[in-house]
Amino acid sequence: MPSITLPTTVQKPSLPAGEETPKRDIIIFSDFDGTIFMQDTGHILFDHHGCGAARRHELDEEIKTGSRSFRAVSEDMWGSLNVRFEDGFKIMKKELEIDPDFDEFHKYCISNEIPFNVISAGLKPILRKVLDVFLGEKQSSYIDIVANDAEISHDGSEWKPIWRHDNELGHDKAASIQEYKAIASSESEDGSIPLIVFVGDGVSDLPAAREADVLFARRGLRLEEYCLENDIPYIPFDTFADIQKDLVRLTKEDQETTHGTGKPIQYNPRANFWRRASSKRGVPTLASIQASAAPPTGKPLIHIEPSFAQQAALIS
Ligand SMILES: [Mg+2]
Repeated sequence: MPSITLPTTVQKPSLPAGEETPKRDIIIFSDFDGTIFMQDTGHILFDHHGCGAARRHELDEEIKTGSRSFRAVSEDMWGSLNVRFEDGFKIMKKELEIDPDFDEFHKYCISNEIPFNVISAGLKPILRKVLDVFLGEKQSSYIDIVANDAEISHDGSEWKPIWRHDNELGHDKAASIQEYKAIASSESEDGSIPLIVFVGDGVSDLPAAREADVLFARRGLRLEEYCLENDIPYIPFDTFADIQKDLVRLTKEDQETTHGTGKPIQYNPRANFWRRASSKRGVPTLASIQASAAPPTGKPLIHIEPSFAQQAALIS
């Protein structure tokens, strides 16, 4: 793959001078907690500055048993926090471990003009701050984040999620994907067929994972188990270096076979809506799609089996 000068903004890849065949676009969507970072940002905050680990486990049980919704329980968890954002961040900075190869992987994405988007059930201000600190603000700015918003009072006494969806999950990724799909259906393809990649670790990633050409699941965790149970093709990974190696390999194989035209060798028709949504924009900025998405409806946009939803809620 040719090396390309670091762009100041991510643009749709153009052909490097002298390259005769088109190069297929790759678009990556990734979970955050447990995928880019080894821990869960919310859990760290709750355990140190909120309800505590024991109470968090009790609350998680309420979701598991179905006695209360993910959204109601989450509001209790976030509402239990009493810490200024900056102070809460100190403990996250200390406890969070980024995947050891993510930084390198993301630089690879930037230099190869591969858009990398985060889709998460967490709180966007926290995720952005974490990325700003761990990657630096410039590198972080290349990543679009779709997650719940939040209102946090200056004195830290109130933490209130602003849910993306008016349903019992608050934000389920399936609903976000459906919004993306609704936008996509109004646009036509321009003929190019990018490769859609999804990276995740948890059950909540499954609805998104089904819609990718290539799925990477963190080894040994729930998403991998579900892929095995449901016969969903996936590639296990231990660190993002594994993903990078596989993407280089897949890109090479695809280029040799298709010369960047037509369908990619790893092709899932269910990923077409991602492609359509991105085809006219040059780059699939989920944030831009989010801005123009229809207002949330009062019910989930996609059916999730209750047992699945409950488990999904536990792993973001
Ligand atoms: Mg996760």
